[in-house]
Amino acid sequence: MRKELARTHERIRHSRKNWIDQITHRLVIDSQVTTYVIEDLDLKGMVKNHHLARAVSDVGIGNFYRTLQYKLEAVGKNLIVAGRWYPSSKRCPECGTKKESLTLKEREWCCAKCGSKHDRDEAAARNLRHWVKLSESDKHRYGRNGRALEKETIPF
Ligand SMILES: [Zn+2]
Repeated sequence: MRKELARTHERIRHSRKNWIDQITHRLVIDSQVTTYVIEDLDLKGMVKNHHLARAVSDVGIGNFYRTLQYKLEAVGKNLIVAGRWYPSSKRCPECGTKKESLTLKEREWCCAKCGSKHDRDEAAARNLRHWVKLSESDKHRYGRNGRALEKETIPF
């Protein structure tokens, strides 16, 4: 029984590693994109949050990030980590207004200021692309060491 369980864990570990190898190969080798921006996720905090724990550990996002990083470095491409407090899901990619609150269940939302309708993940992707255009001081505000100041609109 214990042996069977160990084999199952091993199989899962292998299939995760395979998936990560394939997806990072597509991103790094098959794609013309030279710079990727990822979120600085608080992985330990997310695993403690039972709503997120399973999703985070199922995907093995920490391993995904590490693999992506070393493969990009190997070919001279760039990996940029957006600040932990950058509200990538809550920022309206059209006008920069920050949504007051956004629960994990809300997959789509509407901007209170400009009325644009957003898919949560697509908005996050557009906002991460926008990260590189922020000034150094704005990046610092959303960085590892400081919480973002309360501000309605995130600069363009
Ligand atoms: Zn808006």
